[in-house]
Amino acid sequence: MTTSRSALSPATRLVTAGRPEPGPDVPVNPPVTFTSTFHGGGDVGYGRYGNPTWSALEDVIGDLEGGVARVFASGLAASSAIVSLLPEGATVVAPTAAYLGVIEQLQERASAGRLTLRQVPVDDTAAVKAALDGADVLWLESPTNPMLEVADLLTCIAAARTVGARVVVDNTFATPLLQRPLDLGADFVMHSATKLMSGHSDVVMGAVVARDPDLIDRIEGHRKLHGAIPGPMEAFLVLRGLRTLAVRLERAAATTADLATRLPTHPAIAKVRYPGFGTMISIELHGGAAAADRFTDALRLWVFATSLGGVESSLERRRRWPSELDSVPESLVRMSVGLEDPDDLWADLAQALDTLT
Ligand SMILES: *Cc1c(COP(=O)(O)O)cnc(C)c1O
Repeated sequence: MTTSRSALSPATRLVTAGRPEPGPDVPVNPPVTFTSTFHGGGDVGYGRYGNPTWSALEDVIGDLEGGVARVFASGLAASSAIVSLLPEGATVVAPTAAYLGVIEQLQERASAGRLTLRQVPVDDTAAVKAALDGADVLWLESPTNPMLEVADLLTCIAAARTVGARVVVDNTFATPLLQRPLDLGADFVMHSATKLMSGHSDVVMGAVVARDPDLIDRIEGHRKLHGAIPGPMEAFLVLRGLRTLAVRLERAAATTADLATRLPTHPAIAKVRYPGFGTMISIELHGGAAAADRFTDALRLWVFATSLGGVESSLERRRRWPSELDSVPESLVRMSVGLEDPDDLWADLAQALDTLT
């Protein structure tokens, strides 16, 4: 008896999708195909056009998001491919604060006079709706990086569709296990697979997912022509990371919820930003940048590093980057919760916070 794939839960499909058809001595895992070219007469032809290891990974990501996925060399290569499809002169509604590189790609086009950018706080649904008047594209990220604002995706996407705007959602922080924007009517989902999807801080990769075959063709055309392709080994590493995404996310999210209840009890902390789900928390400390730097210096277990979504818990004061937005508080420390024991994580945070009081 066979079970249709869509009847299986995402946790199961993470394990079963993207595998070779079973048969005697067929490998259980897709091989890593290291080749720049393929014998002629087939569908792929050349290593910039396709690779069987990418295809296996694209099967899993597409299956999870409920669309067709194309992988890219990085999350920013993925967003850049979507930006390249924006019509000349388009009006784009985008978050005030979101992943900086994505916003900078939009701003770069805006300053070249190629689009009109309207930035709004995405957790203010009324502001998003008001900005949509005459817009061509709504670009959302939720929760946002690093402020962890949550957009009402259902309402915002529906409002965009009412005015005929295309919708892009950066789903990096939530992952398709927590929200599936294509189901809500989005046209594109993008990911930095560098983060939770790969989950081990050992690879940089991105993905675009869509349902409309024309949009997929155009995204794939962009990848072929501009060449921001992932390596086969990187594709294998993300695929391997995805196999455990459900358990990693479940464990890290439980620890995050636990820390979100403990952190506000400490007097050194001015504010805790926690969306109520996921593996990220941002805190603000009394005493500004200096206090935040003393806090991160005093930690022993938490890794002081940029990026997020790895098995190791990591954090950073975002404004240490000169390019970070002024609207991000100086003392804001963005924390990515990993798989260590929650009590060990809390003990380290508490001893470092104690140095401030
Ligand atoms: C990291 C990140 C990106 C960029 O992805 P890279 O893989 O670093 O190029 C885009 N969006 C979000 C939300 C991110 O966290």
